[in-house]
Amino acid sequence: MRALRLFGDRDARLVDMEPSPPPAEGEIQLRMLAVALNHIDVWGWRGMAFAKRSLPMTIGAEAVGEVVAVGPGVEGWRVGQRAAPYGALTCGRCRACREGRDNLCEDVAGVLGFHVDGFAQEFRNVQARLAVPVPDGIADADAACAAITFSTVEHMLFDNAKLEPGETVLIQAGGSGIGTVAIKQAKALGCTVIATAGSDEKCERMRGLGADHVVNYSTGRFESLARRVTGKRGVDVVFEHVGAATWAGSLLSLRMGGRLVTCGSTSGVSAETNLMMLFQRQLRIVGSFGASMRNVSDGLAKMAGGMAPVLDAVLPLDAFEDALRRLESRRVFGKIVVTL
Ligand SMILES: [Zn+2]
Repeated sequence: MRALRLFGDRDARLVDMEPSPPPAEGEIQLRMLAVALNHIDVWGWRGMAFAKRSLPMTIGAEAVGEVVAVGPGVEGWRVGQRAAPYGALTCGRCRACREGRDNLCEDVAGVLGFHVDGFAQEFRNVQARLAVPVPDGIADADAACAAITFSTVEHMLFDNAKLEPGETVLIQAGGSGIGTVAIKQAKALGCTVIATAGSDEKCERMRGLGADHVVNYSTGRFESLARRVTGKRGVDVVFEHVGAATWAGSLLSLRMGGRLVTCGSTSGVSAETNLMMLFQRQLRIVGSFGASMRNVSDGLAKMAGGMAPVLDAVLPLDAFEDALRRLESRRVFGKIVVTL
């Protein structure tokens, strides 16, 4: 079967490999249909010295596939059904896993496509308990964005930031994969959205998604806009994933008692926090990583209801490495998906 394998830093190759064996006890076999790219693919491809893994390794953390075989002891799955497989090998035994909060698993065996073989191969066996059924009527390329992108936003905005209708939310890097989804989710809830991006073109496109106020952070200050829009009060929620470059300004943009939720640090992992501001203004900072199984199915239900992810491009598998370069250079609006 064809597979896109990582052989070394910045060295991914499309190769033939042994087909997957029949699914074992508790597993289903998926014929992979589409893989969505994420920043974690860029980190893995660039090389991370601390990541424990053995190469070559198939890349791709987020995908959709069609069930082609059902292993012994598996109930609730049939051949022909589509599935969005979870992006990490969680233990299934710890309390968090038993409660479906797999992103808090205490014994994760690895992130797919980063520590262990991912989904950019024609067939992949996955544990049935780590796959979520995809409703009919959702395009493959859209469904490929469910297991990480849609679910991460669900988890950030609703479980962690507890965003309420009518609130004002500042969405950093609103042109990114998760940023575009966050704009749609917040608007669907009835929130006022302020969104930032690094170019005027992206700002215009964010308006097209429903963002009420946009700012090009390379030429304007989002903190000023946040204050102006809220009558100096500050926003209720900040959606962060940019990190060092925006951290201080994001905290400054919050209202008294405001909430900041973050799931990323693409511009750098260390930033200064004004502790006096943190406690006097009673801010709440919540870290968010991945999503629960319920977040994945909730995201898919929203897709089935008509909320599609924003796709920058749908490309063939052999364009994956070029797409990683584009994602790395941020010349992307929304998601890049490759089809198998
Ligand atoms: Zn666990």
